[in-house]
Order: sequence, then structure tokens, then C-alpha cells
Amino acid sequence: MEVELKEMLHDLESLKQSLPDPSHRASIDKLRLRVEQLTSLEKSGPARRLKVKDMSAEVVDSNPYSRLMALQRMGIVENYERIREFSVAIVGIGGVGSVAAEMLTRCGIGRLLLYDYDKVELANMNRLFFRPEQVNMTKTDAAVQTLSDINPDVILESYTMNITTVQGFETFVSSLKNKSFRPNKEGSGVDLVLSCVDNYEARMAVNQACNEMNQTWMESGVSEDAVSGHIQLLIPGETACFACAPPLVVASGIDERTLKREGVCAASLPTTMGVVAGLLVQNTLKFLLNFGQVSPYLGYNSLKDYFPTMEMKPNPQCSNVACLERQKDYIVAKPARDVALKAKVEAEALLVPECPLHADNEWSISVVDDSGLDGMDAASSDTLPEGLVRELPSADKAQELPTSEAPLTSNDDLEDLRRQLEALNS
Ligand SMILES: [Zn+2]
Repeated sequence: MEVELKEMLHDLESLKQSLPDPSHRASIDKLRLRVEQLTSLEKSGPARRLKVKDMSAEVVDSNPYSRLMALQRMGIVENYERIREFSVAIVGIGGVGSVAAEMLTRCGIGRLLLYDYDKVELANMNRLFFRPEQVNMTKTDAAVQTLSDINPDVILESYTMNITTVQGFETFVSSLKNKSFRPNKEGSGVDLVLSCVDNYEARMAVNQACNEMNQTWMESGVSEDAVSGHIQLLIPGETACFACAPPLVVASGIDERTLKREGVCAASLPTTMGVVAGLLVQNTLKFLLNFGQVSPYLGYNSLKDYFPTMEMKPNPQCSNVACLERQKDYIVAKPARDVALKAKVEAEALLVPECPLHADNEWSISVVDDSGLDGMDAASSDTLPEGLVRELPSADKAQELPTSEAPLTSNDDLEDLRRQLEALNS
């Protein structure tokens, strides 16, 4: 652009010199002035912030990480800056994946690997993240453009390809194995894979790669009618893999292939996709930074604002051979894992703080004991006006549902899951 403007100035000067009538020169000068103004506008451009070497907790307006580092002071996260060591791969940069990528970028994740084969279309504008001027760009390139402006500290890798093809799958696996970002890391080159794809084949490809590599991943999905979704944590050998028990929220309902017909498409809402992306990244942060409880499965039914949770054990008859191998590894490693867990619990017991957390803080924020609130909830259920009943169990009771029965065999597990998901879809 700058070169074109310079050439235009040169052409205008030549034109001015060649004009026989000097009275016409004033209008040429006017044009020249406008081009010069455009040149200076182009040079100033949008201001990009410089890279930040260390994450600081200093509370100043110019610190992009002050609010995140405050999580340490509030006692939520022990060491927030560790986020810069982590690599997360996001497969599918659509309505959920693009928003998840933006959230992780704003949180200062170390490295993001982005996979998608599609281009941005005007039909995507009902969702968040992409902008109309990015139409026809590949989703990965458009994402890198936006994300690198938001946070230049994040290392972004863009893979424009389809992971369900033979070549795409190989590139996918080798990119996950690349450890140049953190050579001393155990296992693969990434800490977590997030599946944000919209079809069964791509989920099965992610499942295959992660089972083969013993790579922990999280799956996400939004239903074709746009009003429900889920996230799920998959640890090879320890939890059900995608082939052990595909979530019926995705697999049931309308057959994907019928959606491929001309003039027919799935519905989508920026709200549901934003909620699912938020749940997915919240679970990711808890997993990476080691705080709170990482949900093994969390559903979202927006029509009833119902969030069921459950745990899924691996299926010993799973059709995926790599899954069966990981299940064997998990059983073999169990005694060593139990010893390590016991040692950790004992070590933590010795570190019980002697003084209350946040006894002194400059914001005068106090932590309220919420055990009394449970009592209030129980009491208020008795005070509902006559003729009204609660449609849904309270959050605490809903969480008891999956564990209320004795430990289940895998078949019972799947039956139970099927029943719960059918209830969720109805
Ligand atoms: Zn499996």
C-alpha cells in the first residue's frame, strides 16, 4: 500500500510538470495533499503492543496480565505464569474452537496449534470471532491474524488441512509430537488437545491420534438444533474414549449426512457456542493450572438451563485397539499411582495453613462461609407457594444422580449414559 501511494505521488508530480496550463496545477496539488494524508495514515497503522518478557502482577493500566496474575493473590491459582509453558492444540476453528482460541490467547497460553481446512463465510457471522472482512480467508489464517494482534506473546501455529485424510492425519500426529517449544516435556509436544469439530469422522480421527499417543484431550459439541452441548475429558485408558461411548448429544438426532443436502444446514447460536467454549476453556485452565475440579463430562441444555455431569469408565469391549492397550497400561500402572497419590495426600496434610486464607487483604473482600446457604436452599424449598413444585433437582442433587448407584459395570454405565442423554435431548 505504501509503495502504491508513493508511485501515485510520483505520477501526480509528472502530470503537474507536463500540464501546459498552470491554472490546472492547483487541483493536482489538492490531490497530492490527499495522497500524502493517506500515506501518513497508513504509516501510523493500528498500534500493536510489544511482547512482554515476564508476566507481572503489577497493578497498572498498561499490564495485560494484572487481572490474571491476581488469581494468585486471591488464592485460586498457585503459579499463573506457568500458563506460558503450555501448548494446546485446537482442532476445528469454528463457532466453538475460534472462541476457545481467543480465550486461551487472552489468558496468555504459551503456544496454540490451530487446525481447520475451511474458509470463513458470511454464513459464519451469526457466531463470534470472525469478521465480514475475513470472508474467503482460511479460518486458520484469519484466526492467526486476529489472535496475534490481541496477544503477540502467544506462539501460533496454523495448519490448514483436513485431519481425516491419510496425509492430514499423519501431519496432525507429527505436529503434536513436535517438542521444539519445550524439549524436556514428557510425552507429546502438547499438553492438551481440544476437539471443536462438528462431525463424527473428525472426532474419531482425534480419538485415534490421542489413543495412539496416550494424549489427554477434551471433546466438545453443540447439537444440530443449537440449544444443547457438552464438554468431555478423555484420558486414554482411564476414562471412556470417544469410540467407547460416543456422546449421544452429537451422535443421535438428525443424521449428519442428511444435513449435507443442498439447502439444509444445522442451526447454530452464538450464545450456545459461546457457553460451550467458555465451559471448555474453564475446564482447560483448571486442568493445566491445577485448581478446582476438572469435569469429566458436563452437559448443557439451554432450554432448561440444566447442566448434568457424569463420569464414564472405559469400555473393555471398545472397538478401538489403541484404547484397549491404554486400558491395559492403566491397570498395570495402578499400584505405583496409588503409592504416589497416598504420598501426595500425606504431604498436603502437613501443609495445612495455620492462619485463615485472605485474613488480610487491601480490597476488604471477605470469604463468606456458604454452608449456611445450603440450609437456606433446603428451607426455601419448603416455602414455595402452594401448587408449585420444583421441576429440576438442585445442582447438588443432580450431581448425586450418576454416583447414587453402586459401581457400574461398563454395560450398565453405557445404559445409564444413554438414559441420561436421552432425557437431556427430550
Ligand atoms: Zn475406547
